[in-house]
Order: sequence, then structure tokens, then C-alpha cells
Amino acid sequence: MEERKILIIEDEQKIADTLKIGLLENGFYAETAYDGKIGLQLFLSREFDLVLLDINLPGLNGYEVCKGIRAHNSNVPVIVLTSMNTINDKIEGYDAGADDYLSKPFEFRELLLKIRVLLKRTLRQYIPEGTVLKAADLQMNLDRKEVKRGDTIIQLTAKEFQLLEYLLRNKNRVISRADIAINVWEVDFDTNTNVIDVYISYLRNKIDKKYDQKLIRTHIGMGYILKENT
Ligand code: CA
Repeated sequence: MEERKILIIEDEQKIADTLKIGLLENGFYAETAYDGKIGLQLFLSREFDLVLLDINLPGLNGYEVCKGIRAHNSNVPVIVLTSMNTINDKIEGYDAGADDYLSKPFEFRELLLKIRVLLKRTLRQYIPEGTVLKAADLQMNLDRKEVKRGDTIIQLTAKEFQLLEYLLRNKNRVISRADIAINVWEVDFDTNTNVIDVYISYLRNKIDKKYDQKLIRTHIGMGYILKENT
């Protein structure tokens, strides 16, 4: 298989260089940028398969870099590396379009695992043109990344879209928070974090609040279900 190319945007040069060496040793191609602005320019000038992104960066911060990447290429996986790991930082990162998070300090083999999972997912992600998932009058066009209720287009962030896609693919089945954490975030959340509940409430505000037929229901103690019939 062709060598996968990884861009490391991290201003702590020692960390960046260590990551690069580790990735090269594991059969990846890697390049480093020690500044957000330079990193984004590098991303836009070459083809990369995945980006490792620090948040506190000179030039542009990680959130801004991530938004810049999403504005140009919505599919490249981005893993945010940060020492800030409060829930608000995570939500801000996901809102900016990050796919996964790793809190510093982390073990290199954990990073490798996340990289491999995300790269596999992008390879798998071929979806026939015009594929539409439906529940009642809700429609999700996977090809156009478009969500509608009736004729109304609903704007979702990347993470909200992924969460709704997972709910739709499992419609009429109760799914646990643990299932959602693993399948949508690809992490095991600590049980006391409420990222999932926060995102479910974002989704409800956007797809259910204004409509009589509520699609997302809570199963107390069990999780959530997207239900088509009342
Ligand atoms: Ca930094």
C-alpha cells in the first residue's frame, strides 16, 4: 500500500520531531510544522492523509487551523493533541472539525492506534453517490452532507452530523452512551463526562425542537433511540 502521509503541526519542536521519528519508524511519511499558519499552508500545498494538531500554536491556533483544513478538505482526519482537556476544549475542537483527541502526555502506541483507526475509516468511507438515510421526514444525504426535515435544510457541525448518522444507521434501536462514544468518537469516555449528552441536546435543538414529531428519545439508564414511529 502507498505510504500514508501525516502532517504534524506542533510548536514544541522536541515533541514534533519525536513524533516524526516514531511515525517514520512505523512506516508512515511525516512532515512537521512548528507554527499554525505555516502548518495550514503546508497542508494546502500538498496531499496529506492525516493531521496531528496542537492547540496552543503561534501563527494560528489549532482550532483555526482545523477550520481552515475543513474549509478545504472535509475528509482528512485530524487528531488534536492538547494538554487542555476540559469538556469545553473538547467540544470546541470537535466543533472546529477535529475527529479525535489525545491529551498530553500520551503514549505513542495509543496515538498509533488512533491513527490506524482513523485511516482505516477514511479508506472504508466510500459511499455511493446520493445515498440517503431516512427517518420519518428527516433525510440525510451522505454524499452532499446535507440534512433536511421536510424541505428545511438543517445546518449541523461535523460531529453532530456523525452522531446523527450513527443514530440513523441504528434507527429504532436503543443505543448506549458507550456505543456512541466508541462508534462516533472512537474513544472510551470517562463515565463522568457528558460530551454525548451535550451533543444529543445540540441535535435535538436542531432537528426536533421545532417539530411535533420528536425523533430522538432518551431511554433512562440505557441511552438513546432515534425512533421513526410514535
Ligand atoms: Ca503548543
